[in-house]
Amino acid sequence: MENLFAPWRMAYISASKNQEGCIFCDFPKEDRDEERLILHRGKTCFIILNAFPYNPGHLMVAPYRHTAEYEHLNDTEMLELHRLGGRCVSVLKKVMGPQGFNLGVNLGKVAGAGFDGHLHLHIVPRWNGDTNFMPVFSDVRVIAEGLETTYKKILEEWRKE
Ligand SMILES: [Zn+2]
Repeated sequence: MENLFAPWRMAYISASKNQEGCIFCDFPKEDRDEERLILHRGKTCFIILNAFPYNPGHLMVAPYRHTAEYEHLNDTEMLELHRLGGRCVSVLKKVMGPQGFNLGVNLGKVAGAGFDGHLHLHIVPRWNGDTNFMPVFSDVRVIAEGLETTYKKILEEWRKE
């Protein structure tokens, strides 16, 4: 999926696409949360803004532990993954006022996982009409707001909760 009107992100996007290794393992090890769009660090899981969002405010919750197997999460990881998912919904409701949400885990490339080595829970805010916003380019979405702006708004609300 490509994004229009976000030229300031192109360097970042190119860098990410060319990156070897696992972003869900590598990014939390760095001390660059704002640059990496990491919103929150929990005990076993963390939250990161999707740099290739389906919609503005598209968040992902992932365990720190590298695993592609949903059924292998232990009880602590499973609980925190979904508790943080709940907090994401709560914060996004306040910040972005979406009309609905999709929450889901894509296991395997055939299921739509763009990155299938390290499982993550997607939290995607939805608005009426967002699916046919750009009918001419089926694979292109307009993201009206820059990622940093979205990140800062969500972070501000997250810290109030
Ligand atoms: Zn990983």
